[in-house]
Amino acid sequence: MARVMLIGAGGVAGVAAAKMAQNPDVFQEVLIASRTKERCDAIVADIAKRGFGRDGERTAFTTARLDAMDVAATKALIAAFRPELVMNIALPYQDLAIMDACLESGVSYLDTANYEPPDDAHFEYSWQWAYRERFEKAGLTAILGCGFDPGVTQVFSAYAQKHYFDEIHTLDILDCNGGDHGYPFATNFNPEINIREVAAKGSYWVADPACDKPEVPVENRKAFDKGWWVETAPMAIKREYVFDGVGPKDMYLLHHEELESLGCNLKGIKRIRFFMTFGQSYLTHLKCLENIGMTRIDPVKFNGVEIVPIQFLKALLPDPASLGPRTKGKTNIGCIFEGVKDGKPVSYYVYNICDHQECYREVGSQAISYTTGVPAAIGAKMFLEGKWTKPGVHTCEEFDPDPFMAELNRQGLPWKESFDPVKVP
Ligand code: NDP
Repeated sequence: MARVMLIGAGGVAGVAAAKMAQNPDVFQEVLIASRTKERCDAIVADIAKRGFGRDGERTAFTTARLDAMDVAATKALIAAFRPELVMNIALPYQDLAIMDACLESGVSYLDTANYEPPDDAHFEYSWQWAYRERFEKAGLTAILGCGFDPGVTQVFSAYAQKHYFDEIHTLDILDCNGGDHGYPFATNFNPEINIREVAAKGSYWVADPACDKPEVPVENRKAFDKGWWVETAPMAIKREYVFDGVGPKDMYLLHHEELESLGCNLKGIKRIRFFMTFGQSYLTHLKCLENIGMTRIDPVKFNGVEIVPIQFLKALLPDPASLGPRTKGKTNIGCIFEGVKDGKPVSYYVYNICDHQECYREVGSQAISYTTGVPAAIGAKMFLEGKWTKPGVHTCEEFDPDPFMAELNRQGLPWKESFDPVKVP
């Protein structure tokens, strides 16, 4: 009997739970535990209404209230439920507390976003990589960042490296959301995390600081492990790209977590960039909110109480889990690689197109939660089937990509490929 404990009950967790319910042969018992138990119960009720299951088999769901910052409480729940895997689909702030609880309880771990301290809008792998030796010694697997980006983008990278390249020299990750929810401003996943990410400085990774164009001044280059970060002001680098299934979109260079691990793990890599599309209305609202201090993450006094402006803003914005019925259009997320095979130059583009309304019909969510929750469920399936087990703390490019790529096609995220893609200047 495979038992999984899923922490979090937001948009992404709801999709992961629904996908697990569609695979009852792998996921026999699932405990959904989160801060607000009513949201866990709502997910279970929705799954029951949809009648997910296969060949008369049904996943057995239970729910519990849990503050995952409380390591002792998480350990107690793990001890009572005895899961093979804990899936952390709460927020990045909880990563280390949940990893501690897993280590102390002897259970493997999976998440969808890397650790971020609440008082510093900055994420990097160092905090979670510091757990490598302890997970390895305990014989436990930790799978980090198993959503779409990070997550599938790294599986795509491992697949490209395994099948089509001797060396990959450049990688551009393109994340396009061509969907429209009809609101002037809303975010497609947790507003606090989303705004912290897009308001931060942009950056991309280069192996050699001299190899790049003088678009960014030399003083903005910082040495990092095996390469260099080239830093830009937020949204300073803009490109236009015509996306299959969506059409032309403006996209902007952002810092993103998978650049850090891929810079270490791709053979021969010289440059990695990440671009995300944004509409003008989103950018104008974001600039205005920044200018008036609404995106601040430090507490301010208001009517005698302390509030954090970005948390107050989150309370006013639409809940991403409620955007499903309103969002129309498609997403297109993928990777463009250039490199060499047998001495000859090779270009390769692999991507998924996902339709917001099709996701809504299937599981009641928009495509951003869907494209994150489905890979999380696939990652858990890979672990439970013994295909992705490796003691230590690992990112998705460190595992065999083939079974995961096959599951993407089966579980609702089919991919397309091209050997003659339009390149990003
Ligand atoms: P939501 O805000 O919708 O959901 C977060 C859930 O976590 C809520 O149910 C919340 O509880 C719960 N939670 C928060 N704090 C705690 C706590 N201390 N203890 C227990 N539960 C807690 O977020 P999303 O579903 O949109 O995103 C989930 C994760 O997925 C985030 O980490 C996000 O960064 C990541 N993500 C990753 C992507 C990728 O491609 N890799 C893309 C998109 C998102 P409550 O209901 O009480 O608020």
